[in-house]
Parts: sequence; C-alpha cells; structure tokens
Amino acid sequence: MSATLGTLINQLEPTWSIGLFENLDQAGLESSSPWNNAGTGHSALCELNYTAAKADGSVDPAKAIGINEQFQISRQFYAWAVENKRVAGNGFINALPHMSFVIGEDHSKYLQTRYDALKPNVLFDELEITNDLDTINEWTPLVAKGRDESQKVAASRVVSGTDVDFGRLTADLTNSLGAAGASINFGHKVKNLKRDGAGWELTVKDKASGAVKTVKAKFVFVGAGGGALPLLQKSGIDEIKGFGGFPVSGQFLRCTDETIINQHHAKVYGQASVGAPPMSVPHLDTRFVDGKRSLMFGPYAGFSMNFLKSTGQMDLPLSLRPHNIIPMLAVAKDNMDLTTYLIKEVLKSRAKKDLSLAEYFPQADGSKWELITAGQRVQVIKKDAKKGGVLQFGTEVITSSDGTISGLLGASPGASTATPIMIGLLSRCFPKQFAGWESKLKDIVPSYGQKLNDNPALYAEVKAATDKALGLN
Ligand SMILES: Cc1cc2nc3c(=O)[nH]c(=O)nc-3n(C[C@H](O)[C@H](O)[C@H](O)COP(=O)(O)OP(=O)(O)OC[C@H]3O[C@@H](n4cnc5c(N)ncnc54)[C@H](O)[C@@H]3O)c2cc1C
Repeated sequence: MSATLGTLINQLEPTWSIGLFENLDQAGLESSSPWNNAGTGHSALCELNYTAAKADGSVDPAKAIGINEQFQISRQFYAWAVENKRVAGNGFINALPHMSFVIGEDHSKYLQTRYDALKPNVLFDELEITNDLDTINEWTPLVAKGRDESQKVAASRVVSGTDVDFGRLTADLTNSLGAAGASINFGHKVKNLKRDGAGWELTVKDKASGAVKTVKAKFVFVGAGGGALPLLQKSGIDEIKGFGGFPVSGQFLRCTDETIINQHHAKVYGQASVGAPPMSVPHLDTRFVDGKRSLMFGPYAGFSMNFLKSTGQMDLPLSLRPHNIIPMLAVAKDNMDLTTYLIKEVLKSRAKKDLSLAEYFPQADGSKWELITAGQRVQVIKKDAKKGGVLQFGTEVITSSDGTISGLLGASPGASTATPIMIGLLSRCFPKQFAGWESKLKDIVPSYGQKLNDNPALYAEVKAATDKALGLN
C-alpha cells in the first residue's frame, strides 16, 4: 500500500518530499510477502466467497465484478511500472489459470448458478465450466486423479488468471521510489504520532542505534498493515473511534517435492467451511516466489493476539478502548460460527490437516508437505447502529476530516486492489490538487474514470496492452 501510494505521489508531484519508515529490514515482509498471503491477485475469478449464494439460491455477480474491475486498475498500474522501470522486470506476475472446484450436488448446482450470473459480463467471458472428471483431469490432474468417481463434482476456470508475487512488487516499487529521491528508512519503527500545527509529528526509533528522532509531515499515510490500528488510535483522530481489530492467523502446507509441484499449474479454490472467514477458503495453489514455482495448500486458520507476524501477543488487549469495547463484544456475541470454526481449526492435528489436503489432492502424501506460518490478518470490527458492532472482511480506509492523515485497516482483497484504493485515498486527502492530476493518472491507468465491465471494446484494448507489457500473452 505504502509503496503504491509513494510511487503514485512521486509521479504526480515529483517535487514533494516523501519519507517511508519501515520497521523491518526490507519492504514487503509482512502481509505482502508471498509466503504470508494467498497471492491470487484476488480478481474474483475463482474465489467463491465473493459470489455467495443468497437464501433463494441465486447469485449476485456485483461484488465479483467490482473486485475484478479494481484488479484491472492494478494491472494497468503494474504495466506502467514495468514500462517505466519502476519494477525490475515483469517476473512478479505470471499467467496462471484460476479454477473453482466443488464437491456434491448442491455445490455443483451453485457453481452453475455462479457461472450463469458471471459469464455474460465481459470481465468473466472466458469463464468455462464442467462436471466431467476427465476434463477436470486435463485442467488439474492432481485434483482429479484417484478421486471417487461416484462423487458429484464441478469445476470452473479462467485460463488467463495470474499469480502475483506482491512481496517482490513491493520491494521493487520501494527501491525505485528511493532511487527517485524518496527517503527510505528500513529498521525504523514509528512509535507515536501527534498533531503539529496543520500537520503531524512522528516519533521514530532507529532500531539499530536505538536513536529516537522526530519527523514532521504535512500528510501521513499509516500503511502499517496490522500495525495501522494502534498507530491510528495513537493519532487521536475521531474517525478511528469505534474501530477494533480481530486477528486471524494462518498456516499453509507447502509441497517439498518438485515432481508434484511441477504437475500442478493453477489456483484451485473450493468452498469455505461453515463459519470460516471468507479468505480462509481452501485452495491448492501454484505460485511463483522470486521466480521459483511452488505449491501451497491452505490456509488453516488459527488464533493469536498479535496484529503483525513480527509483533507480540499484547496487540489485541492493547487495542481495547472505551469506544470499541461495545462493538468488540457485539461481534463476539454475533459470530459464534466463527468462534467454533477457529476453535476447531486451532485443534486440528497434522493428520486432519492432511485429510483436508486430500479433499483437493486425493493422492497427496503428507510427508511431502511442510507446515508454514502465514501472515496475520486483522479483520475490521466497526460500530454498527443496530447491532452494536459488525465484523468486516474487506479493507477500510480511515481518513481524518481535514485529510492530513489516512490509514488502511483490514485484509483481503488488499494487495490486488492497492492501486484503486490508493487513488481513492488521494482524491479524499488532496481534493484541491486531484483534478489537476487526472491527466497524469490516465498515463498510469489509461482506463481511469471509465468502467471496463460495461465497455467490451475498451476492456479488450486495455487487456491487450497490459498483457503485452506484463509478458502475459
Ligand atoms: C493469509 C492471507 C492471505 C491473503 N490473501 C490475499 C490475496 O490473495 N489477495 C490480496 O489481494 N490480498 C490478500 N491478503 C491481504 C493482503 O496481503 C494485504 O491486504 C496487503 O498485503 C496489505 O498491504 P499493506 O501494505 O497494507 O500491509 P503489509 O504488507 O503488512 O505492510 C505493512 C508494513 O508496515 C510495517 N509496519 C507496521 N507497523 C509499523 C510501525 N509502527 N513502524 C514502521 N513500520 C511498521 C510492517 O513491518 C509492514 O512491512 C491476504 C492476507 C493474508 C494474511
């Protein structure tokens, strides 16, 4: 998020002075690291949680279309970044089919309803569907081989999906931002921030020397991932009142056998269990990390009270404030399904984890898979007039009324939608300058200001250009 925002501001206002303070020794090691997130690109081609069936069984395509539309904006930004040498090359993005796979009569019917709802839209016009195990075997042999043939199964896919290594993208954007004149400070923790006249004063600790310094800024973006809630609370802005965070940790199984890794070439997403947070949908997932192919399965959810992978267990209790206690309690009361799901997941033995893997890869041998810890997701809890508080699964931008500070809370989709989220933030925080930036924004995002999902000709043009720049055709 910070690398994207910094790059945009640097392009729109090259004379503005930008400072970036990162607690860790490199950029992109927390949620944006490819080992820590799901890395699908969250373009809603295969994630069924964006098209949940309604009570009458129908499927509303709007959310999936909206997310895909947002990803198209990010893709254009990536293409611009490659063409303008803001990233070292196009290796951070790879073509990879996106598939959904379901088991059982009801789920198969649902997948057909989803297909019928999405297929007419140009952003989903490549969607294919099948109930035939032989076809699934061609699409994804690991999922089909050894499967009980009496099982009713269905799969859909979009061949032109992508895998994005957000860690590498973040590192490259940050490095090029430094080369363009921004002050990049790794190993620097922002400890506090307070108002300073019309702007802000940050207290920053250099972890290597222990030195503490103050930094003044007219505008602050708190792009601290799970660390954003505590920093926004420290800022004292009214807009953060009533917000809390609920951390969900995760684990993946990572395949250690090259022969198996090379037999799979897709992201295969299934259905979430009852009560599971939407992004805990199981998936068997090819990904490219620093250019090397890997295979993951998961995530398995867990509970720990830290907001970042690199912080301690006191984050949750320390985030409690008089103004967020009621929303937090309301969410605890209203989300018993989630609590039950988390307890079950935490208690899941390695043997049970292997059984979950076998649902997607019937011939899996657990000894060829290692357990790794994923990133922390901090789900947003916010005040709600009717219920007291609600748990929210997307991201939420919090901006002070004077627009001098803004921060991002929440999880997925986040990485894949960073560009539209940051453009939205610029329009809110810099209303006077924003109109003057629009032509430069169109250089970065050629479709800026227009919708692609109702404009097939423009979509075809933009897709062809971005595919070419990103080496995807
Ligand atoms: C398991 C999992 C699966 C996900 N799957 C997807 C997906 O498939 N697609 C998708 O789009 N999104 C996904 N997400 C969400 C996505 O990873 C995040 O939305 C995105 O990476 C957030 O980027 P960020 O820059 O806000 O945070 P981060 O990448 O976490 O960066 C925040 C940075 O701030 C630093 N920081 C924190 N506090 C301080 C401080 N006080 N001082 C200085 N530095 C600080 C941290 O060290 C970190 O480097 C997933 C997340 C998880 C955990």
